[in-house]
Amino acid sequence: MAGLKKKSDGASGASRFAAWLRGTPGMENIKPARQVVEQANRLAAVGLAEDLAGLDVAELGAALDELGELTDPPELARFLVLIREIADRTIGLRPFDVQLRAAAAMLDGISVEVATGEGKTLIGAVVAAGWVLQGRQVHVLSANDYLAERDAAWMGPLLAAAGASVATVTSATPQADRVAAYRADVVYVPVTEAGFDVLRDRVRSRPEEMVGISQDATVLDEADAVLLDEAKTPLVLAGEAGATPELDLSVADFVADLVEGVDFEVDDDRRTLHLTDTGINRVEDWAPEADLFSDGADVLTRVNVALYARTLLVRDVDYVLADGAVSLVSSSRGRIDALQRWPEGLQQAVEAKERLAGSAGVQVLDQLLVRDLVTGYRTVVGMSGTLVSAAEELMELYEIRSGSIEPNVPNIRTDEEDRLYETGAERDAAAVAFIGDLHEAGQPVLVATQSVAESERFHRLLTEAAVPAVLLNAKNDREEADIIARAGEPGRITVSTQMAGRGTDIKLADGAAEAGGLCVVGIERFPNPRLDNQLRGRAGRQGDPGHSVFFTSLEDALLREFLPGTPEARDVLEADGLVLDRKHARFIDQAQRISDGQQREQRSLARRYAHLPAQQRVEIVKVRGELMIGDRALERLKQKIPDRIDELAEQVSAEELESAARTAVLSSLDERWSAHLAYALEIREGIHLQALGKQEPLTVYNRMLHEAFPDLLQEALATAVELFEDAEVVDGRLDLDSAGLYRPGATWTYMVTDDHFGSEWSRIGRLLRPARR
Ligand code: ADP
Ligand code: MG
Repeated sequence: MAGLKKKSDGASGASRFAAWLRGTPGMENIKPARQVVEQANRLAAVGLAEDLAGLDVAELGAALDELGELTDPPELARFLVLIREIADRTIGLRPFDVQLRAAAAMLDGISVEVATGEGKTLIGAVVAAGWVLQGRQVHVLSANDYLAERDAAWMGPLLAAAGASVATVTSATPQADRVAAYRADVVYVPVTEAGFDVLRDRVRSRPEEMVGISQDATVLDEADAVLLDEAKTPLVLAGEAGATPELDLSVADFVADLVEGVDFEVDDDRRTLHLTDTGINRVEDWAPEADLFSDGADVLTRVNVALYARTLLVRDVDYVLADGAVSLVSSSRGRIDALQRWPEGLQQAVEAKERLAGSAGVQVLDQLLVRDLVTGYRTVVGMSGTLVSAAEELMELYEIRSGSIEPNVPNIRTDEEDRLYETGAERDAAAVAFIGDLHEAGQPVLVATQSVAESERFHRLLTEAAVPAVLLNAKNDREEADIIARAGEPGRITVSTQMAGRGTDIKLADGAAEAGGLCVVGIERFPNPRLDNQLRGRAGRQGDPGHSVFFTSLEDALLREFLPGTPEARDVLEADGLVLDRKHARFIDQAQRISDGQQREQRSLARRYAHLPAQQRVEIVKVRGELMIGDRALERLKQKIPDRIDELAEQVSAEELESAARTAVLSSLDERWSAHLAYALEIREGIHLQALGKQEPLTVYNRMLHEAFPDLLQEALATAVELFEDAEVVDGRLDLDSAGLYRPGATWTYMVTDDHFGSEWSRIGRLLRPARR
């Protein structure tokens, strides 16, 4: 076995200091925060401590109230002393100096890296309390419903004693309760839910229907995951559009007959496929009237998507059938996720493959990038166990300043260098043997793989080797958290994906520390070092013993994808396939750097493409807001069709007329916006196919969107005018519906996950390209 161990310095210590000295862009000195905590401790030492002891919680809260806006250090120091006392008395947690330091830095606008298990939940609550004293309204954005609920319940008593009202919003919160919830001083809400509420508010036609989410100040938990990993994930508000189930079914029937290797080919990694010339000929024979390379591109798209659904999406792996519907299984988290849908077309194709009734098509009414949600807040500070390595990009993309806080007790986890094997099979065999030995010795092990399918596969290998392991395939976040929370029991082996159970603390049970603490084993390295470090951070919390190691091989996806042609390791193997030559280990780092760089590039590109539509949307929302007031919409129509309005005014009440005008104008505007979004997507996909000469695709895209925009409002008004001219008065009301009012059926929200958008969907996009020369 390779005895190459080095002491952990990932999260703290010398390397960080060195980085700071080098002046890592985006990294901030947090000395002022340190000083204010020292000041707080001096304050507590000279008398205040005894004074505090004599006060009850209510009196402490009153003392907080007397503080000003915490703008000068002495006030901030007093605040920290008081809040520490309140936290201790209300929730039984007395913030450590490092936690207060983190909170002080955050109140100063600096996002902080605080290692896993150091108590970020409490830090976030202290920051929220401080902001509320400053008259701010705070959203603590968390990763999911479960964490929002947990944290609000946990921190509620502290915040209440500090004079702040607290509420939780989750996907289960009824519409009627949301207005009140969003009025609370501190709202714990998952990022997605806050985004959906912003989206839903943007298409309402009456101010009183809005939940009115104010985007003042936010504490962002797991900030790098939200700001980087999920940054290009759009949250979508969709409405029903015309379904084409017969066509979907006939396409499904057609592709069912295509033969792999003849009509189409699947790449080795079984992630992409493409039609061969034979296949394209068959499509042409099947749909002869369609010119496949212009109007008929739609047929070809449908065939490709259906083929993809047939060949590469596997029931019970990628999706499950439940209650006559297709539900997605998220490949990174491994569970059925009601929030997710495949992008337009693919969902229907899978339904057709399964001969289901076929849900309505989806029309995207509006969308919001997670990134744009976050930047919509006036003040954003984040916290995360892995922020420093993202500092530069966070500064670049968000102007976020980052600082780093050392752990309360020094981290003694050992991070072993990768154990690199020649083949994947040797890698797995070695990992299984390694884990089996630890299990024998009573050490708990958390195994993380690249995907759910991989977790299942690895779990099978362990079982075959008679190593008992728990496979994490929970149905929901709470269950997942419960399983992960037990990962620190002696000898327990938990197999999961990297993301599973995030936010859940893994405490060592009795006897586990003596056996060496939690050992984290990664099977293959992740696409960027931050993800590796997040995983390592699971072990060694709060000074616990712990260990981490990755098992890799020269056949790993990272190498195959980003460094194809990596030289074979020759006579450098031990009998079990271990590669001793560290040169090869460096190839993995290199491949990871390329992968990381590519992801950064994609994020930057996504941001540049999202910029103009987001700006345009802000303008539309402003116009909408104005048209919603009183008779403004009616006035606009009056300018165009004064006679008709006069005529109607005699038949319906003034109130009805105003309301109908509002509905007609706003719905038409929403319809145009939805079409504008579709247009944006079309150009974005289309322009990459065209020969552009020397023109930059982004420039063309922006120009076309810019040109289309001014017409949008005029076209919407024209539609509203038509509606008003066509509509008849029925029972004293203007019947807009019969006149063809745009009213998307049921609306729902979902998230286009990276899995399906950034990869599968763009792969489908890619596979279309060769065909359309
Ligand atoms: P993180 O989000 O940083 O991973 P959590 O907020 O989940 O950490 O907290 C991890 C654990 O640390 C929890 O069990 C919590 O009760 C404990 N903890 C946090 N702050 C303190 C404190 N000041 N004193 C004692 N325990 C604490
Ligand atoms: Mg946490």
